[in-house]
Amino acid sequence: MKIGVPKEIKTNENRIALAPSGAAALVVAGHQVWVEQGAGEGSGFSDQLYLDAGAQIAPDAEMLWLQAELIVKVKEPLRAEWPRIRPGQILFTYFHFAASRELTDAHLASGAICIAYETVAQPSGELPLLTPMSEVAGRMAVQEGAKYLEKLYGGRGVLLGGVPGVAPAHVVVLGGGIVGSNAARMAAGLGARVTLLDVSLDRLRHLSQTLPANVQTLYSNRHNLLEQLTSADLIIGGVLIPGAAAPKLLRAEDLKLMQPGTVIVDVAVDQGGCFETTRPTTHEKPVYIVDGVLHYAVANMPGGVPRTSTLALTNATFPYLLQLASKGWQQALRDSSALRFGLNIIDGKITYRAVANAFDLA
Ligand code: NAD
Repeated sequence: MKIGVPKEIKTNENRIALAPSGAAALVVAGHQVWVEQGAGEGSGFSDQLYLDAGAQIAPDAEMLWLQAELIVKVKEPLRAEWPRIRPGQILFTYFHFAASRELTDAHLASGAICIAYETVAQPSGELPLLTPMSEVAGRMAVQEGAKYLEKLYGGRGVLLGGVPGVAPAHVVVLGGGIVGSNAARMAAGLGARVTLLDVSLDRLRHLSQTLPANVQTLYSNRHNLLEQLTSADLIIGGVLIPGAAAPKLLRAEDLKLMQPGTVIVDVAVDQGGCFETTRPTTHEKPVYIVDGVLHYAVANMPGGVPRTSTLALTNATFPYLLQLASKGWQQALRDSSALRFGLNIIDGKITYRAVANAFDLA
């Protein structure tokens, strides 16, 4: 099959949907891989690396889209890309259709087969193509939190791990899912005193058995959270209620209970955030201050570390991509229930209930 890998055109999107190792494996499997010129640069992969892997370099997007039977991307096609989509072309990328009627309508009209990373689901309910980005964001939350705790940035001037004779920082993590457990492990590794709150007792049981001893688990309710606030140096928000906006666990008035220079990293910002005072920020201007409390709420945290994120994403997407390319999309979907969940649009029809429901098209 002819596989096309365009350069991402969304602002500050430096990831690429296929690493050179993946290109090599596809070529070995008998496929033709076309990579748009410069598409890997943001992730540190030169055109030469793709050529060495046996891929071909397309000089522009036009040519790439025209000949590819399967387009693999990172972000949803943007308006400038819509006219390039051809009927019957397979698109495999993050779409997040429910967030945009316009995007959905454009893809319905295109006649393409749209398989969305975000809805590929294992029988256990796990979303294997979202997990790696939550892992990146959870780990990065601690790295960013530690940076903004430095005085220069307006933080409390506290070192996460303390030193002998000086207490470590207190890190409070809300939510013990992928983001929260990764954040807790990172903070604990740096020597912080970590408190992790979740509403799932099963999850807390599992985490208390598997996380280091400097992580304490706590049932998440307002009383327990308020008790933690006064001593927190860094609070990381990683709660999720699937399909719903994040619950606001911290109210605006709660900020007054906190020490000046405390840092909040609201990873759940892409679902509206779990703090009332959260508003989305960007990598260019990641923080703002409310009542002396620093807020970091970058909606695409993995974009800040594109090399790691590209490798993490492509590790997860590649096996599915190989199936789609080698078996054809029909057989690949017949064989894999996970991929079937990924099918969102075909023949101008929505095939994923939550997307149809979002626009009353069910
Ligand atoms: P997850 O489903 O693995 O974990 C969510 C956890 O929140 C679950 O364990 C759940 O029990 C817990 N929870 C629900 N309500 C709670 C409450 N009231 N108090 C405490 N815990 C509660 O989800 P995840 O993969 O860890 O993702 C978390 C959030 O991070 C999502 O909104 C996701 O979209 C977001 N995210 C953001 C970025 C970014 O760049 N900003 C990147 C990746 C993920």
